[in-house]
This record gives sequence, C-alpha cells and structure tokens, in this order.
Amino acid sequence: MALREVRTIGDPILEKRSREVTQITDRTRELIDDMFETLYEQNGVGLSAVQVGVLKRIVVIDLSEDGNEQEPVVMINPVIRESDGEQSGYEGCLSVPGKTGKVTRPDHVIVDFLDEDMNSQTLEGEGIFARCVCHECDHLEGKLYVDLVEGPLRDVDAEGDDADDGTSDPDDIISGMNDTDQG
Ligand SMILES: [Zn+2]
Repeated sequence: MALREVRTIGDPILEKRSREVTQITDRTRELIDDMFETLYEQNGVGLSAVQVGVLKRIVVIDLSEDGNEQEPVVMINPVIRESDGEQSGYEGCLSVPGKTGKVTRPDHVIVDFLDEDMNSQTLEGEGIFARCVCHECDHLEGKLYVDLVEGPLRDVDAEGDDADDGTSDPDDIISGMNDTDQG
C-alpha cells in the first residue's frame, strides 16, 4: 500500500470522464488499497480514482465514522439507478482543500456497481450516503461539486466549525468527499 497524491482543482484530469473497468488486475487491487490508505490519511469519507490521477470508474467510500452502519465499500462502475428526495448541506472535497459549500442533492439513492471480484452489487441509502455517492459519481463524469454550490465557497478553518450561519449543523459538513477538519 502506498499513499497517492491527491489531484486538486485546476488539474485538468479532474474534468475528464473516467473509463469503465473491464477487468480487475493486480494493479487495480493495488490502486484500490492505495485509495483507501489515501482516504484515511486525508480523513476523507469518499475518494474516486480520478482524484489520484487514474481515469477508472472506481470509488471508495467509508462512512463508518459518521455513525453509519455501512462497511467501507468499493464501487466499480457505479450507476445511480434511482434517486429521489432532496437535501441541502455543506460539502467538501479532497480535491478542493480548505473549502466548503452548500449543495443540494437527492436524499435517497439506489446504486448498482461491481465489487472487487466483479460481482454485481446494489446498495441503497439516504442522507450522507446518498450525498457521498452522488458526489463521487460526479467525479467519474469530470464534475466537481464547486459547480453546484449555492452561494459562495467558504473557507474551512482548522477546527472545521465555521458553518455557523444557521443553515447547517457543522456536523453536516461532509468531509470527504473531504474532511473539513483538515483545514
Ligand atoms: Zn470530491
């Protein structure tokens, strides 16, 4: 396992569409391991392969620290089959360090994907899970959340507690996409 460099906004690769994964090789497994290591090192909750410079449709998500029962999950070629509802909250991204902004997302998604053994899987979830899946799937299309932000992008201070305008509990800030705690 090794840490990978996280690409940041302005890097043209972040605007490219990632390609479908057709087979799992040792390199793919190494990439996935490295993505988890990088995610944890950066205190994030979600990371897409493009963010470490690899244009493959691979996403890793770990929401376990948010009191979610979901296990860490790898999604290969994820497709949001259904989405509904609406939620607004602050979002961040490891590729946009030190910033946060308010984004409205579906509140419920059903996502189909392949696991590390290329078996078809489906997960359904609400709240932060739905937000995270939408955010990461956007990355695979070359989109960043900053284009969806309502109002200004804000600086996140080192404590991650600046969301005090009454529109959101600071706990709603999604790191992880990016951990706003990292400043
Ligand atoms: Zn992101």
